[in-house]
Amino acid sequence: MKTEKHYDAVVIGAGAAGMAAACAVCERGLQVALVDREEHLGGILLQCIHNGFGLHHFKEELTGPEYAGRCIERVLSLPIDIYLETTVVDIAPEVESRTVHAYSGRHGVLEFHARAIVLAMGCRERNRGNIGIPGLRPSGILTAGLAQRLLNIDGYMPGKKVVIVGSGDIGLIMARRLTWTGARVRCVVEILPCPSGLTRNIVQCLQDFSIPLHLSHAVTRIRGTDRVEAVEISPLHNGVPRARKAFTVECDTLLLSVGLIPENELSRRAGIAISPDTNGAEVDHRLQTSVEGIFACGNVLHVHDLVDYVSEEAETCGGNVAAYIHHGRDTRATAPVEAGANLKYVLPNRCAPGETTRLLMRALAAHDRAKLVIQQQGAEVVRRALKHVRPAEMISCSLSERETAALRPDVPVQCTLET
Ligand SMILES: Cc1cc2nc3c(=O)[nH]c(=O)nc-3n(C[C@H](O)[C@H](O)[C@H](O)COP(=O)(O)OP(=O)(O)OC[C@H]3O[C@@H](n4cnc5c(N)ncnc54)[C@H](O)[C@@H]3O)c2cc1C
Repeated sequence: MKTEKHYDAVVIGAGAAGMAAACAVCERGLQVALVDREEHLGGILLQCIHNGFGLHHFKEELTGPEYAGRCIERVLSLPIDIYLETTVVDIAPEVESRTVHAYSGRHGVLEFHARAIVLAMGCRERNRGNIGIPGLRPSGILTAGLAQRLLNIDGYMPGKKVVIVGSGDIGLIMARRLTWTGARVRCVVEILPCPSGLTRNIVQCLQDFSIPLHLSHAVTRIRGTDRVEAVEISPLHNGVPRARKAFTVECDTLLLSVGLIPENELSRRAGIAISPDTNGAEVDHRLQTSVEGIFACGNVLHVHDLVDYVSEEAETCGGNVAAYIHHGRDTRATAPVEAGANLKYVLPNRCAPGETTRLLMRALAAHDRAKLVIQQQGAEVVRRALKHVRPAEMISCSLSERETAALRPDVPVQCTLET
């Protein structure tokens, strides 16, 4: 039997993004449902027991569960209806009958009817299938986030002699965590010439424990039948493995930390336009997707480096959702924002003339002393000096009302990084 529920807004995902968005909508006097497939509120933060969270948002250094705890406290202080162990399986996006379909161990089959929907489903890890390492399929190969969950939540040690593929933050954090727990982390292997993770994590998680980092190297073979026994590692020359210089490292576990992908199956099913640069939804100046009344924030929109920015973005998104419900669609003409030289992407994909706008972007490569230049039809809007630029660290640039006042609608705004 199906139960129908009616809300002003339904928020899908109760991580940092979903919680902040739900609170922001509710605090504006609207009825909100917050839905998550897990047993607890908090999302990925609950398994991140290291510190380093909240320096911007709470002005103090917290662990993931502490950061989540503060957000949960706020959610529980508000009249938000929470649906846990409830998985959203489909979204019917039609404006007149916008519906979220969900199945729940606690609540049965649910159909939420809402005036607005917030996508806050986070992201998932790329796995072996995404990178195609040759070799057999022994046990002992798992993603770094899964290993983190096994260790920090379920209390299982994933292995004793570990090689980590990819120098993304999750892999780095796990190198330190496994070392503390008694495992021997043999090395981290990174295909790129520079690390993918934050500099502070390279120092605190690898250098402090003398864990070797092989840049411009790849794991070219996995050995072992029942369990991983060793991996073959090759240096790369112009991206091609040099077989003659390959070496073997014995290990019983291979952790993959090779990137995150926004969790957008539901978005695609709802017909939302997805950006090939972020793998997240394309959004306008209100963080509204290409489908009216459906908004997106957090890692489902683009993979963030810091949770503080997730909370900030989601807070803004919640405010926009409330404005949409109260006043309808913002139909002002806007200008498309484009990523130019040396930038992978810029968000949001549109900005409104005369409105304060925060642009978030990622560089394609590392540079020191770069200049961020934003212009429209050759007219410079902003030029900012950046001391260090790293692909792992998001670049944030706030444009004031005055700076956006002269922007012309429908004419592309170009963001480029001069190096
Ligand atoms: C290992 C690791 C280390 C990190 N370290 C730091 C750090 O030191 N400092 C820092 O600032 N940030 C760090 N971060 C980043 C930060 O934790 C994340 O960016 C942030 O928590 C993401 O929040 P989110 O709400 O977008 O996604 P999530 O927390 O992933 O939440 C998404 C939620 O959506 C739910 N969901 C998904 N699909 C459905 C569905 N169909 N139906 C119902 N529910 C669904 C999921 O269950 C989940 O609870 C780290 C992240 C990781 C993974």
